[in-house]
Amino acid sequence: MIIDPLHNWFSSNNKTNLITGPCGAESFEQLSKTIEDLNKFKITPSFFRAGVWKPRTRPNSFEGKGEEALKWLAELKQTYNQKIIVEVANAQHAELALKYNIDALWIGARTTGNPFSVQEIADVVKGKNIPILIKNPIHTDLQLWLGAIERFSNNGIKQLAAIHRGFHVYGKTKYRNKPFWNIPIELRTVLPNLPLLCDPSHICGNTELIPQVAQKALDLGFDGLMLESHFNPNIALSDANQQLTPLQLHGLLNNLIIRKVKINLSDKKNTLQEL
Ligand code: PEP
Ligand code: MN
Repeated sequence: MIIDPLHNWFSSNNKTNLITGPCGAESFEQLSKTIEDLNKFKITPSFFRAGVWKPRTRPNSFEGKGEEALKWLAELKQTYNQKIIVEVANAQHAELALKYNIDALWIGARTTGNPFSVQEIADVVKGKNIPILIKNPIHTDLQLWLGAIERFSNNGIKQLAAIHRGFHVYGKTKYRNKPFWNIPIELRTVLPNLPLLCDPSHICGNTELIPQVAQKALDLGFDGLMLESHFNPNIALSDANQQLTPLQLHGLLNNLIIRKVKINLSDKKNTLQEL
């Protein structure tokens, strides 16, 4: 698999490779205030994230603003010279995101689990020079995750990365989605050159657990983080409990320890010994 190294398409302005922004794009003001507050703390993410189509578990919750939000993001991209990433779940989403010059796309956990949707998105971006970041599927199926990555690679996408966002388990656990770290470790064993990011926000489901999960990901050799942030999480229309204020994110980044010796995740024996 031909994979473009992360440093070729990710800026490294922050302590670690970083994607941040709100769970959902709610209004132009919410987005611009969040970018401004992040910038106040010198947080300039490689990609500013915002969901414009939100895959909600139950109907009648905030489902995103769709094309209207893409217009806001396209304007913010110019105003703040900030690269943007959105989630796409079908071919129409991907076409619209390309129309508004969105810089990168991520495939959500619910979509990775559906090879039909993944293939139709891969066909829209075929031969295009756009980064595609693929979250793990909701359930613990490494093959399905690999299959989605291969569908994009087969269509000529080289700016590829995986995002670990934890896995659904039935019943109560301290995490919203259990990390099962052995699965991303196994992914790295199979595809050692594939950049691997961690999304502690969706693993944790609350802000208290995020620092320890973020640190653990970096200790395991992950290449960066996707973290949800909102200028005022209390009024967020989705995932309010897990979004960080720019101030909290600033504190988290300051406290992260970047270890000098990187554990080689592709050597499983070594990793387990280190752990
Ligand atoms: C999100 O990033 O807001 C999202 C819906 O993520 P996931 O696909 O990991 O649930
Ligand atoms: Mn979310």
